[in-house]
Formats: sequence, structure tokens, C-alpha cells
Amino acid sequence: MHFSPANPHTREKQQLIQEIQSEVKLCSRELGFEYLSEPVLEALQSVPREAFVPEEYQYAAYDNRPLPIGGGQTISQPFIVAIMTHMLDPKPTDTILEIGTGSGYQAAILASLVHHVYSIEYDPKLADRAAKTLERLGINNVTIRQGDGFDGWPEADPFDGIIVTAAAEKIAPPLLEQLRVGGRLVIPIDKQWLGQELCLYTKESKDKIHCQSTISVAFVPFRGKIRSTSGTGDNNDL
Ligand code: SAH
Repeated sequence: MHFSPANPHTREKQQLIQEIQSEVKLCSRELGFEYLSEPVLEALQSVPREAFVPEEYQYAAYDNRPLPIGGGQTISQPFIVAIMTHMLDPKPTDTILEIGTGSGYQAAILASLVHHVYSIEYDPKLADRAAKTLERLGINNVTIRQGDGFDGWPEADPFDGIIVTAAAEKIAPPLLEQLRVGGRLVIPIDKQWLGQELCLYTKESKDKIHCQSTISVAFVPFRGKIRSTSGTGDNNDL
């Protein structure tokens, strides 16, 4: 029998993936699906979450919870990363825009599934660190830039999918413009006293968007310009 020097996280990772799958089943009514797709499960398997977690939280790298990454921000809970990725329904030829790079973990998961990921991070230190982490892992199909994601990335549009990992009361209009017809946008919408809801928008035509609300979530707030333009969250008006 061959005993390879096992990755110390292998067991924990298996347990985490099982836990995520059970949670998806529990929430299947709200989510509208019961199982994660095979490619999403493979992505969770292949990306080392520990590489995106600060030294002092290494022991919790495979706990199913968000963890601090500095600057008051967090790496998302693995269950949330899994379902948001599934909801985007990424294809190998897709170009995806992410708003809120944070640690770079969500970007790395997407990068293993699609052609290219563009990711914008408001905090310069986090943007810099995420870019270095991805480079160290040899992930070269993610382009990160520091800035306010409100404006999207017009030089690289249209996007097949857009994922926003910070909560806003409504979608920044440039993001909807930069989504191709047929594309999907996944975002936590802040419904004020009703809390945050994870929403999936599908752009059915140039001026028609279909909205599906799923589960309650708890994301850090969207920063920057959106603050001064925030509306009701009922953003069906492209
Ligand atoms: N996807 C991340 C989780 C990020 S937490 C991960 O996998 O680790 C949300 C991130 O969104 C934070 O880093 C925050 O700084 C960033 N953010 C908030 N508002 C933003 C904005 N307007 N533009 C770009 N990034 C923003």
C-alpha cells in the first residue's frame, strides 16, 4: 500500500463538502435545487481554502463559516460560495465579473470553472494580497483591480455572469448593462429591516430582468458610490 504524505486538510475538506451538500438539501425549497453540480463539487475539492485564510485562522480553514481577512472584511462561508457558484451556472467558455475580491477564494473557485474572471476589490491591501495568493497558486485566469465595483468593468464587457459578494439595497445599474442577454447575476440584496436575501437575476432581454429570491444571508455591506444612490432594492427597472 502506498502512503503519500497526505494533505493535513483532506479529511476536514471531505467533511466540509458533505456538510455543504446536506445544507443545500435542507435549503432546497428556497434555493430551487437539491444538489450542487458536479463541476462545483470538483471546484470545492480542488481549491485549497487554507491558502486564502490568514495564519491565525488556519485551524478553521475548513469550518463552514466566514473568517476575518483583515480590514473588517471576511472570506465567505464555504456553503455560500458553493451555492452562489452553482446559481451562476458557470460554463468553461464564460467570462465572469466579481465585485468584492476579498481573499480571492471565490474568484479562484470560479477560475477553475470558466475561461476568465475579472474581479474588483475596494480595499487596496486586500486586492494586492488576493492577487499575490492567486499568483502563488499558479491561477492565471483572474484579473484583479482595485476600485469601486459600482462602475463594473466596461472595458471587458459583456459578462456571461456577475457575482457580487457585498450586500447592497439595489444592483448598481452599470452591472446590469454589462451583463449579456441570457446572463446571470447573483447578489445579496439588503432589504433593510427584512434582512438580506440572496438573489439570482437573469437578464431575459435588454430591458427585462427576471428575479428569484432565495435564502437569507449576512454579507458585509457594499462600499463606495452605491451608498449615495441606494434605492428600494426592487430593482426591476434595468
Ligand atoms: N468574495 C470574497 C468575500 C469578500 S467579502 C472571498 O471569497 O473572500 C466582500 C468584499 O467586498 C470585501 O473585501 C469588500 O472590501 C468588498 N467590497 C465592498 N464594496 C465594494 C465595492 N463597491 N467595490 C469593490 N469591492 C467592494
